[in-house]
Amino acid sequence: MDRISIPNPYFEGASNVYLLRERSLAVLIDTGIGTPEASALLQKELSALGCPLREISVVLLTHKHMDHFGLARAVVDASGAEVYVHQDDWKDVASYDERHEEISQLYLNAMRLWELPQEIILQMGAVRERFSELARSVPSAKPLQDGETLDFGALQVRLLHTPGHTQGSACFLIENRLFTGDHLLPTYTPNVGATDVTSGRMLKRFIDSLKKILSLPNVAHLEIHPGHGPSWRDPRLRIEKILKHHDERTEKILNILSDKKPYTAFEIAQRLFGTMREHHVLLGAGEVYAHLEELYAEGHVERLFPNFFQSR
Ligand SMILES: [Zn+2]
Ligand SMILES: [Zn+2]
Repeated sequence: MDRISIPNPYFEGASNVYLLRERSLAVLIDTGIGTPEASALLQKELSALGCPLREISVVLLTHKHMDHFGLARAVVDASGAEVYVHQDDWKDVASYDERHEEISQLYLNAMRLWELPQEIILQMGAVRERFSELARSVPSAKPLQDGETLDFGALQVRLLHTPGHTQGSACFLIENRLFTGDHLLPTYTPNVGATDVTSGRMLKRFIDSLKKILSLPNVAHLEIHPGHGPSWRDPRLRIEKILKHHDERTEKILNILSDKKPYTAFEIAQRLFGTMREHHVLLGAGEVYAHLEELYAEGHVERLFPNFFQSR
């Protein structure tokens, strides 16, 4: 197995692309972002590994973000490769171009719900316009379901649906190797709440998805190959740490709300994170909102008007 690192100027550092070869089969896990520079780099690195782009037979996508699937269409055009993605992210991959306006509108609604300042809403709108250039629709992509196994003869790949970071985020299990995309990362917790606004209750789903990995029978022997950063063995400590991190954040939010005054998601994010800039405002408020959704569902807070939350 080989790892190719594809830098990008927009998101959280370079993305990992994995190349697995078994006899005549050549599988890519994720592709990197859809810029001309990333495309040139991916082609160069694959050639250097003795597997030119045209020889790729399968592309597995961990989720619908541009820094992971951006070049999938270019790979298909060059190689005719089959592309697979979990069904809940499928529409946004297969119809990326067509859905651009609709998703922008969902983000606009979300940012209003979180009560972001108008200036930030305008800035983020401009950022989203640039995003339309970073990926292209992959109409030939095929949707997969949780637990489905792809049998390529030389290689069996099982998909585990691990929603949270996006609703169709998935890990691919190949023997004792688990390719986790952005669901499980070595050094920071992925954003939950702002990175997919097409569905609700993402924090609960994310926590459940982490526990799902903990419950795998061979968890202690798993090699984790994330979408960013280095690989490591045995995910248990890392998962425990992330679960604890979210518990602590919930506590901090409840603490802020303990004065019984109404707060918006943005106001709580300011209290938690201090001054935020550019897209960090969106990420911070979205993450707080995901926590508030859970606190509301569990009956700890009430909603007013409905963008304000108040402790019960
Ligand atoms: Zn992502
Ligand atoms: Zn990512």
